[in-house]
Amino acid sequence: MSELPRAVKYLIIGAGVHGLSTGWHLVRELKARGRETGDDILIVDKTDIAAGASGIACGVVRNFYFQPAMGAIMNESVNIWESDPEAFHFHQCSYIAVVPQTQDKDVESIYERQASEGYESTLVQGEQKVFDYMRTVFPDWRARGLTSLLHEHRSGFAFNKPAMLGIAGKARAEGVRIETGVQVTGFDFQGDGSVRAVQTNQGPIEVEQVIVGAGPWVGQVWEMLGLPNKIDVLGADGALHKDQEMWTYWRLLEGAIQIDPKLYMTAEGKMPPVFHFDSREPLISQKSGKQLNPENGLWGVYWKQDTHGVQGGAAPENLGHSAEVDPYGTASPHYVVGDDFADLWTSGLAHAIGRFEGCYEAYHRVPSGGIGCFTVDSFPIFDYAPGIPNVYVVADSNHGFKMIGVGKEVARVLMGEHSSVLHPFRYSRFAEGDLHPVSNSPYPWG
Ligand SMILES: Cc1cc2nc3c(=O)[nH]c(=O)nc-3n(C[C@H](O)[C@H](O)[C@H](O)COP(=O)(O)OP(=O)(O)OC[C@H]3O[C@@H](n4cnc5c(N)ncnc54)[C@H](O)[C@@H]3O)c2cc1C
Repeated sequence: MSELPRAVKYLIIGAGVHGLSTGWHLVRELKARGRETGDDILIVDKTDIAAGASGIACGVVRNFYFQPAMGAIMNESVNIWESDPEAFHFHQCSYIAVVPQTQDKDVESIYERQASEGYESTLVQGEQKVFDYMRTVFPDWRARGLTSLLHEHRSGFAFNKPAMLGIAGKARAEGVRIETGVQVTGFDFQGDGSVRAVQTNQGPIEVEQVIVGAGPWVGQVWEMLGLPNKIDVLGADGALHKDQEMWTYWRLLEGAIQIDPKLYMTAEGKMPPVFHFDSREPLISQKSGKQLNPENGLWGVYWKQDTHGVQGGAAPENLGHSAEVDPYGTASPHYVVGDDFADLWTSGLAHAIGRFEGCYEAYHRVPSGGIGCFTVDSFPIFDYAPGIPNVYVVADSNHGFKMIGVGKEVARVLMGEHSSVLHPFRYSRFAEGDLHPVSNSPYPWG
């Protein structure tokens, strides 16, 4: 590693999607304004580019959001994914969500929002019509009891690490410096409450502006900044909920089966859409033959084609308000998911599509899944840290591999502009009671 500068204008903590995208867009904003850039921007990562959540994410890029403000981020993000699919390893294979009756209204409103914003999608409603549509995609589709389907034609997935290296390449090409093996360990403050220097394992770096993109480690950096771990939230019911935990950790359950990817193609021989489906039908275990869900109990799975087969996940597990983000003492928030997950997920695949019958045997037993750090309302915080005028926090509440556009908006805010896209994610929304609407999805990110 070359010697670290002792002072920089912009220091970005974390080389995941948000740190990298912010660095890349920030240098472009500076150049567009004819300002000096040179060594102005430094991204540091305690381990490596894509060492965190961005390097293990399933990589699903979808706009399936009930909340209009989340949709606005995705519209902007998909424009960026589409701008250079090769560099970002983005596959625009589309995305299909199929859900039962309890979510009919939510799906209708998502479709209407997408239609009004020019995000091309197809809505199908009615049990038989949904089934028939799915049969045109996969002749061996067999899941019943699903009454709404939304097919997003511009969505898809990106390969996680290659995508991050693509953004890093663009940032470096514009002159952004990225240094790995540099861990931020604390902050020195000055009289007005701003950060004067960032302490690292390689010594202090004086800064004008800090951007935090620490992913699941954001709670640790929040604590180093001396920010509160409990806050009051004015609820949609008008009641003040005192002392709510700022962060909740969830274990994202994901895994893969190893099969010849050619066995998983559409009826037309194309790469299949990314799939998500929720169901209340009996889910029969591929392993034991027993029913895995309680009678009428909602369950859901998602999946996509992968290089060596099929990769996907199911609803995550709540780990509470503190979690070992580096469970194996490594920098990557990986977990080995349990056999319960393997059973549920592979049974979900087989429930949906005949060719996956018996795929439990093909489950790939390697570390998979990981940790997500969720905010008090499970939606992102994109804002200056409360009371610290030169620290901007990107805490995406685990929504964000797909949100490559957040960095573009953050860069504009750092130039002193207002971002109507990021405004709904300001920290003060908790005190103001200006919270996001909640859907009927069983997932914490719904
Ligand atoms: C298993 C799993 C699957 C997911 N699947 C999807 C998906 O399909 N689609 C989707 O949109 N989202 C998905 N997500 C969520 C998504 O991955 C994250 O929201 C997003 O990647 C977070 O990006 P980030 O840049 O904030 O953080 P990260 O990618 O985690 O990057 C943070 C970086 O900060 C570094 N760092 C941390 N602390 C310090 C420190 N003190 N000093 C220096 N460096 C530090 C870390 O080493 C890390 O590289 C998934 C998440 C998980 C865990």
